[in-house]
Amino acid sequence: MGRRLRDTANLLNGSTVLGMLVGLFGRGRFRGYSGLVVVDRVRLPKVVTASAMTVGSVVLVPRRSLEEAVARVPELMQHEEEHAWQYAYCFGLPFLPLYGLATAWSLARTGDRARANVFEVQAGLETGGYR
Ligand SMILES: [Zn+2]
Repeated sequence: MGRRLRDTANLLNGSTVLGMLVGLFGRGRFRGYSGLVVVDRVRLPKVVTASAMTVGSVVLVPRRSLEEAVARVPELMQHEEEHAWQYAYCFGLPFLPLYGLATAWSLARTGDRARANVFEVQAGLETGGYR
C-alpha cells in the first residue's frame, strides 16, 4: 500500500481531520513533510511527554520546532510515519482506544508506557527515542 493510499484512508476515516483540529486548537505551525502534515510548536496537555504525537497523517510536535525534535531523536519522523500507518490499519479513530489499552498493558507488564506497547514496539522503540 502506498503512502498516498494511507494518507487518503486517514483523510476519509476522520483521523487526519482530528489531528488538524488538535493542531489548530494548540495553535501550532503547520508544515508539510513528505505527504504528512507536521504541526510543530503545538500546545498539548502536559500529559503528552513524547517527542511527538501522531493523529492520522498529522504529526504533532509539542513545545519544539520539528528541527529541534529531530536533533534530539534523529529517526523521529520514521517512527511517527509508522504510527500514521497504524491509524490506516485501525480504520482511524479506533486506534486511540486500542493505543490506550496497549499503553495500560505495557505499564502493567513493565512499568513503562512503551516497552510492551505493541504499537510502539512495531513503530520502533529506538527510532521513537524510547530506551
Ligand atoms: Zn511512538
